[in-house]
Amino acid sequence: MPSPILGAQALVPTDQTLIDMFRVLEFACRALFSPRAPLSVRMSSTGVYKKGILADKVAVITGSTHGIGFAIAQRLARDGAHVVVSSRKQQNVDRAVAILKEEGLSVRGMMCHVGKAEDRNRLVTMVADYYGGVDILVCAAGVNPLVGSTLGASEQVWDKILDVNVKSPALLLGQLLPHMEKRGKCSVILVSSVAAYFPVSLLGPYNISKTALLGLTKTLAVELAPKGIRVNCLVPGLIKTPFSNVVQEEDMITQIKKLHGMQRIGQPEDCAGIVSFLCSPDSSYITGENIVVAGFSPKL
Ligand code: NAP
Repeated sequence: MPSPILGAQALVPTDQTLIDMFRVLEFACRALFSPRAPLSVRMSSTGVYKKGILADKVAVITGSTHGIGFAIAQRLARDGAHVVVSSRKQQNVDRAVAILKEEGLSVRGMMCHVGKAEDRNRLVTMVADYYGGVDILVCAAGVNPLVGSTLGASEQVWDKILDVNVKSPALLLGQLLPHMEKRGKCSVILVSSVAAYFPVSLLGPYNISKTALLGLTKTLAVELAPKGIRVNCLVPGLIKTPFSNVVQEEDMITQIKKLHGMQRIGQPEDCAGIVSFLCSPDSSYITGENIVVAGFSPKL
C-alpha cells in the first residue's frame, strides 16, 4: 500500500506538463492583459469574462483625432464599440487610427470636415456600406476662429462658427437618421461648453454657438424619442487640449482652481466615461440632459 505521501508524489506533474501549463497560462495572460487584447472582452468582478457594455455598437465620432473626441473614441472602443474616427486632416486620422489599432481596438477612420456637405456624405456612405447602420453619434468637432468683440465679428466668422458648431451636428444626424432608425436604441451626444452658461469674454460667437447646442439637445431629444434615439449633451469646463491653449496661461489656471476648489483642470479622459455611460443601456431613460464635466457646476 503506497504511503499518502508517495500517493501525492504520483500526482506531481512532470517537467514537460509544467512547461505546457505555464505556456497556456502565459498565453491567456497575454491575451487578456496585453494592450493589443480585444478590450471588448473583459473580466468582471466575479471573475467571469464579459463583453464590453457597448459591444457590437457602431459609433461615429466627429473631431475625434485629438483631445476630447479622441479620448471618447478610445473609451467607446475599449467598451466594445466599433468606432469611426474622423477630422479634417488625413494625417491626423491616420495617426489616431494607428494608435487605436495598436491597442487592438476596432476602428476605421475617414477624413471629414463636418462643415462640408460632400465630406459628411462620404462619411455616411462609408458607415452605411461597411457597418450597415449606426448606434451612436458623438459630435465633438468644434471651432473658435475669433478672440474679440461679438459685434465686431465678421459674417464669415459667424458663418464658420454656426456651420461647424451648430448646423453640422444637426445635418449629419439628419443624414445618419435612416441608418440609426433601423437599429432601434441609439444615442446621440452633442458637445457644448460651460461657456454656454458662463460666457467667456472675447469668445462671444463661440459662447452663443455652445448655448444653441443646449437648445438643439432639448429639441432633438423630444423629436427623436419616439424613434428610440436619445440625445444628450456633454458640457466640458476647461479641459487640457490644444483647443484650450488660449485660456491655459498660469494665472488663468490659478484663478480657475480658486474658483472651483478642485486643484486641477480637466483631462480629455474626464469626459469619456460619462459619454460611454450616456451611450450605454444604463442611461436608457435619460434624454435631453446636459451633463457638466468641469470640476464645478454652473447650474442649479
Ligand atoms: P482639440 O484637442 O483641438 O481637438 C479638436 C478635434 O476636432 C481635432 O481632432 C481636429 O482635428 C478636429 N476638428 C476641428 N475642426 C474640425 C472640423 N471642422 N471638422 C471635423 N473635425 C474638426 O479640441 P478639444 O478641446 O478636444 O475640443 C473638442 C470639443 O470640445 C469642441 O467642440 C470644443 O468646443 C469643446 N470644448 C472644449 C473645451 C476645452 O477646454 N478643451 C471646453 C469646452 C468645450 P483636425 O485638425 O484634423 O480637423
